[in-house]
Amino acid sequence: MDKKSPIRRFKSFRWEETEVLAYKEEGSAPFKAITRQTLFRDPDLKCELRYFEVSPGGYSTLERHEHMHAVLILRGRGECLVGGQVRAVDTNDLVTIEHWTWHQFRAGPDAPLGFLCMVNAERDKASLPTDVERKALESDPKVAAFLKGA
Ligand code: MN
Repeated sequence: MDKKSPIRRFKSFRWEETEVLAYKEEGSAPFKAITRQTLFRDPDLKCELRYFEVSPGGYSTLERHEHMHAVLILRGRGECLVGGQVRAVDTNDLVTIEHWTWHQFRAGPDAPLGFLCMVNAERDKASLPTDVERKALESDPKVAAFLKGA
């Protein structure tokens, strides 16, 4: 019988026996310099806990969907767009992304942004903004500045 340890040790924002994967399939959506580690996934849990790490200057996809995200910033700092608001985020901040809320995370130029993200194991696919939806978001100059270059 395989005796797997219940503890996977943490080393420099990597966990033992945990693969560092691409954030998403390349070409599936716009994103830059971001990796994914799935920390917990079990059919009984009905949720997944993932760790994403955005390198300096990188960003996650601007998207929205039916499922929620519960996010804990674990490393570094950056900014996030949640709904129509751009906010600075720092280590240990908690971010709740409600149903169908536009969201994107960006690392600052000088530090990575690492965060835990809890989601439903079964969830809907993310929607990307149409040109009209993106223009509506960009009507706020702060949001336009945030989205510039992505
Ligand atoms: Mn999302």
